Amino acid sequence: MYTVAQLIGGVWGAGEEAGDLVVHDPATGAAVTAAPVATPDEVGKAVAAARGVAAEWAATPPAERAAALHQAADAVSAAADELAEATTAEMGKPLADARGGVEAGIATLRQYAELAPARGGRTLHGAPEALDFMTPQPRGVVAVITPWNDPVAVSCGLLGAALVTGNVVLHKPSERTPATGWLLARAFDSALPAGVLSLLTGGAETGAALAGAEVDVVAHVGSTVTGRAVAVAAARSGAKVLLENGGSDPLIVDADVDPVWAAGQAAIGAFANAGQICVAVERVYAHRDVAEDFVAALVERAAALRVGPGGDPATDLGPLVDRRHRDQVHGQVTAAVADGARIRVGGTLPEGPGAFYPATVLDNCRHDMALVREETFGPVAPVVVVDSFSEALRCAADSPYGLAATVLTGSMSHAQRAWRELPVGTVKVNAVFGGAPAGAAHPRRGSGQGFGYGPELLDEFTAVKAVHIEAPGGGHW
Ligand code: NAD
Repeated sequence: MYTVAQLIGGVWGAGEEAGDLVVHDPATGAAVTAAPVATPDEVGKAVAAARGVAAEWAATPPAERAAALHQAADAVSAAADELAEATTAEMGKPLADARGGVEAGIATLRQYAELAPARGGRTLHGAPEALDFMTPQPRGVVAVITPWNDPVAVSCGLLGAALVTGNVVLHKPSERTPATGWLLARAFDSALPAGVLSLLTGGAETGAALAGAEVDVVAHVGSTVTGRAVAVAAARSGAKVLLENGGSDPLIVDADVDPVWAAGQAAIGAFANAGQICVAVERVYAHRDVAEDFVAALVERAAALRVGPGGDPATDLGPLVDRRHRDQVHGQVTAAVADGARIRVGGTLPEGPGAFYPATVLDNCRHDMALVREETFGPVAPVVVVDSFSEALRCAADSPYGLAATVLTGSMSHAQRAWRELPVGTVKVNAVFGGAPAGAAHPRRGSGQGFGYGPELLDEFTAVKAVHIEAPGGGHW
């Protein structure tokens, strides 16, 4: 059992005692974590304490901050096994995936440690006797509010970028993964001056208190509904918001692709991490010419996945994060079936403990069903049959979200149309999870705003100042 402590103003164990928040292992139902719930009063105190050390951290030379981030990466690396185990115990993903998330987080920290000091401003061509330049400066106090689905990778990106650019940070990890957040904060804190990072634990109320506090930036990764609430709170305080929110990513299967290969891509996209990935495949538009063979192959792939606890190395598909979430996923599937969708595999609640849900494929789906339009965040692949690539593109574009999209096609002109026309941040052609290192994108619509990752995230946490210097009296120095 993990007993989580908060870190406020450089003091571990400040604030409420552990115990108010209890997390259960989604594979067994056993209690795994007890964590405090920060009250709004404690949030206010933590923000004031952070403000008190902001100037000193901002004035620390960039190379020193980068060295501290490298040290933090070392500490995260030393705690990698522990972090992966905590992730699996709290949210259920297979241990190898959890470990992959930790490795991704470490790599991001090292990338930001290298990039940040090299990222300067620019010199301007003003009058010859004047000095004109633009320089990025830290924004000050940053609130980072994170989800549970890939807790180490997501948190490392935001924490690393905000800290290395000279901001002090208050981190509130998800109430579903507080021990993972606590272990991560311990690793970071060992490498940073006291008070530069604070850890607040709790749920929506704690998050809301932090989002509404007198901070300079609120960075939220999570659902669209929460992102909108964060934006409202920040509008009142004047804080800048950075939102990386939900998605309902489409997969288009064109008429000319091998349906068995396409099913392999769809299975990876829809079932990895039990579908609990922001860029998971949430809806499939399959051309009528290949739809039948595609669905048959996808059903086979779904049925072959070994379901089990994340701690078992043989497991392909771990449980969902908890039963509350499973009820939401199953509710969407049931509603679609009542509306005419047909379950080809899965779709039933298993007996026994935990929050397991089978990989589920449905056909006879329509574009207007909630299962197709809303984010499901479960191992569910609803298939809509279309009669043309244009129809597929039209449906894919017609969404309240705009995170990413994948197109499987042998036609270069269809690939070109897809990346030009789809109103999403990322378009992938013929690889559901492909992408070069250091790529970054702006999510569209309900999926958020700003760069949530990549080198450009460093810029989100700085404010650029323009400077003009002349000698007094118009003469020379
Ligand atoms: P969530 O928004 O419910 O919770 C995320 C965080 O916000 C948690 O720490 C939570 O306590 C906090 N929170 C909840 N209510 C709040 C409020 N009113 N004010 C401030 N903070 C509040 O999301 P979740 O269920 O933890 O995560 C799943 C969602 O995250 C999915 O929609 C997924 O697509 C999204 N996600 C997006 C990305 C991305 O990069 N776009 C990455 C990972 C996850």
